[in-house]
Amino acid sequence: MSNSTGGGIAELGTCEWPPLAVADSRVHELLLRQERQERTTLKLIASENFASSAVLEATGSIFTNKYAEGYPGARYYAGNEIVDELENLAMDRLKALFGCEHANVQPYSGSPANQAVCRALLCPGDKMMGLTLPEGGHLTHGWAVNFSGTDYQRVPYGLHEKTHQIDHDSLRETAKRERPKLIWVGGTAYPRIFDYEAMAEIASEVNSYLVADIAHISGLVVAGVHPNPVGHCDVVTSTSHKSIRGPRGGFILSRNEDRYQALYHSKSKHNLAKRIDRAVFPLLQGGPHMNTIAALAVALHEAGNPSFRVYGQQIVNNARALAQALLERGYELVTGGTDNHMLILDLRERPLSGKAYAERLSQAGIITNFNMVPGDRRHPALTSGIRLGTPAVTSVGMREAEMLQIAAFIDLVCRQPDDSDVHARVRRDVADFCAAFDVPGISDR
Ligand SMILES: *Cc1c(COP(=O)(O)O)cnc(C)c1O
Repeated sequence: MSNSTGGGIAELGTCEWPPLAVADSRVHELLLRQERQERTTLKLIASENFASSAVLEATGSIFTNKYAEGYPGARYYAGNEIVDELENLAMDRLKALFGCEHANVQPYSGSPANQAVCRALLCPGDKMMGLTLPEGGHLTHGWAVNFSGTDYQRVPYGLHEKTHQIDHDSLRETAKRERPKLIWVGGTAYPRIFDYEAMAEIASEVNSYLVADIAHISGLVVAGVHPNPVGHCDVVTSTSHKSIRGPRGGFILSRNEDRYQALYHSKSKHNLAKRIDRAVFPLLQGGPHMNTIAALAVALHEAGNPSFRVYGQQIVNNARALAQALLERGYELVTGGTDNHMLILDLRERPLSGKAYAERLSQAGIITNFNMVPGDRRHPALTSGIRLGTPAVTSVGMREAEMLQIAAFIDLVCRQPDDSDVHARVRRDVADFCAAFDVPGISDR
């Protein structure tokens, strides 16, 4: 509905554009409510973060208006001299941070980045191997309802029955039997370090591409608190909005040359880097989102600052402290702990589903998501797990001491899941607790 008084758009030919509060009071009100929610709750969703004001400013800049189909120096539109510099800057910063030969910053997000990689490396019907979704893999690594499952042959791998960590021996067996052309290493709910060296050895034994998807952990890699897959993997993909704290988007890193060019792509005159670029544009996408690329460049500049290493280390320290505190309170964690920014509460032995606990926690101002755990017997829409992550709470400045308090809040709610008075009390305490911290992008605006 448009409001007939006060709001709306400027008269043609004038420059009197009203601010959001006036132009669209409905959206403005929703924005204020979202800001308030984020200031007064604990954001423990492992894939979320608080982008800085500078990143948000670039995201909301006039770069949003520019069409720049193509790549720097080879565009299909005029007037791109400045955005050429911008995109080159983002690519150069990525290459410097990760030490890779080639970077593509145009994918609209993580899933389109993964799709582009599949199109650059595989033919429809080829075999792709990935960690299953219930055990921590991502939709795009070969799940039935996703393009990766409909367009390619899925060869799933799982976790070790007891350790719930990647079982390289059985993975090797499966790879030797199935001879996949692509192996994914990475996940969305895996709290341990990925062994890229071991995975690279297996991939080489079966002439498979190895692709690391570091969507969750790219910030940790840049900070030096998780191994860098570049060098071990043919291609690396990531989102730009998770631990690396940039805008909503994705990027792809790779070598220039394809080590399997003669084997799988002898008919192509393009090397690996070029095939990836062509898969992103024009195969799958049109014009890149230059505002997002601008914001990515800003985020990478921030991530190159020594303070980002401190940030990354604190994310991990916080996850460990939270894990330890929850273990001491009698909770089970998948793999018994964490090496990175996330932990997964294993609630299989508890009376309610992961979804039910996540709802209770949310009423108490603790924002999480429910998640499958290894051996889960509940439906994927209910699950027996809760995933917790520390990137966002670390961005607001919380440390180990705060993690102990967060564990206490979680415990209060989960021990009394049916007592809404308790939830309301914790909700107030959480709001008081959060008030002591400045939230990037909100408090400093
Ligand atoms: C988040 C995530 C993605 C997908 O990112 P979107 O931006 O949501 O498309 C891909 N892979 C992994 C491992 C992820 O965690």
